[in-house]
Amino acid sequence: MAMEPTPNAMTNAWNDSLARYRRHAAEVLTTHQCMDTSCAVCGQQWPCKAACAAEFVLELRDMQ
Ligand SMILES: [Zn+2]
Repeated sequence: MAMEPTPNAMTNAWNDSLARYRRHAAEVLTTHQCMDTSCAVCGQQWPCKAACAAEFVLELRDMQ
């Protein structure tokens, strides 16, 4: 997925936000676990929205 280049100020703000998201995402992934076909925490069909969002945030890190 291609990302447009951003000005430095926006990149710094984004990196700060991303650092917070990453910490939260790591917490989500340690609590939201797959049990059979659904999430052990929220009961949604696996992968649940929280786990998908967390995976997405952690993937963003690898794009940089
Ligand atoms: Zn969940």
